[in-house]
Amino acid sequence: MYKEMITEGIYSKCLSPELDNRFNHLWCLVGNTPMLELQYSYKGKVGSIYVKCENYNLTGSIKDRMALYVLYKAYMNCQISPEDVIIEATSGNTGISFSAIGKALGHQVKIIMPNWLSKERIDIIKSMGADIQLISKEEGGFLGSIQLSEKLAANGGVFLPRQFENKFNAEAHELTTGREIVAQLANIGLVPDAFVAGVGTGGTVMGVGKHLKDINPFVKIHPLEPQESPTLTTGYKVGAHRIQGISDEFIPAIVKLDELDEVLCASDGDSIIMAQKLAKQLGLAVGISSGANVIGAIKLKEQLGDAAVVVTLLCDDNKKYLSTDLVKEQPIKEGYISSDVDFTGFTPIARLEKPFFGSGK
Ligand code: PMP
Repeated sequence: MYKEMITEGIYSKCLSPELDNRFNHLWCLVGNTPMLELQYSYKGKVGSIYVKCENYNLTGSIKDRMALYVLYKAYMNCQISPEDVIIEATSGNTGISFSAIGKALGHQVKIIMPNWLSKERIDIIKSMGADIQLISKEEGGFLGSIQLSEKLAANGGVFLPRQFENKFNAEAHELTTGREIVAQLANIGLVPDAFVAGVGTGGTVMGVGKHLKDINPFVKIHPLEPQESPTLTTGYKVGAHRIQGISDEFIPAIVKLDELDEVLCASDGDSIIMAQKLAKQLGLAVGISSGANVIGAIKLKEQLGDAAVVVTLLCDDNKKYLSTDLVKEQPIKEGYISSDVDFTGFTPIARLEKPFFGSGK
């Protein structure tokens, strides 16, 4: 059925067969990522969790799924035309995804982002010919970036994906990430018991959560936030943190905390050390939010017991963080769990033979 949704595009008066083809081709490079069973010991006790390798997407992050699906739905619903400039306020990975996918579809792209994010993000966006405007703390930081995008759109000729409120953001993860998790685990005879994901827009946790709940109403769905900036639990921005991509300064409209289980937290230093360990001990060179997600998953295993099938995501790889603290030694602080974790190996769980969108890899 979902595959038909893509081909049904040719019946939308706003999506030409040529563009429809480009979408199909792009779906061969986005989603249907590998999954790994990660084996570790924590305080000397062995355990395992399941992780989706989202660094395998076109631009190396989970946000490609959202960008491609949001643009597809915009064409289907006649909310974008080929001449429109795509303008988005973002803390990084979304900007990279819209730059790549926007260009592949023939659009001009302008990205507005806070000026304190990693240099690599800025250079990658620029390399794809997108315009980039940096906003300082004094100019309003993240919220200022969003306000500016709305102001620029008022003149017309602009498509605003509005990732923080666009329902197709979460739907992208319901129809791709969530379905892939269920199908890949089903192939080895398992059903997820719990899922945890750091919240940026919340699209991942809400969308994956919805599909997992459709399959198993008892599944636990946990959002995760930085310990240094617990916006979800306090309702407002508190403190700075180093887990780029999550906890942006407010609770996004997509996030419905009453539909989710308890908010988990990970400290930024602990997340960095966990990401460093994934790279050093297993060769999985991932970003800081991936370290945070693995902390959340190991904490859940402690709560739910050895037999629980706990799933999370490696959101991106470490290449965008080589100028950040991710490559610096971190002091170990009280309460960190990374110091008691050692990774011992992983077993791959194959990609799906038939992906839910596009024509396969
Ligand atoms: N990790 C990274 C590295 C990200 O860029 C993002 C998206 N901002 C997330 C996690 C969170 O994803 P979502 O926006 O779907 O909550």
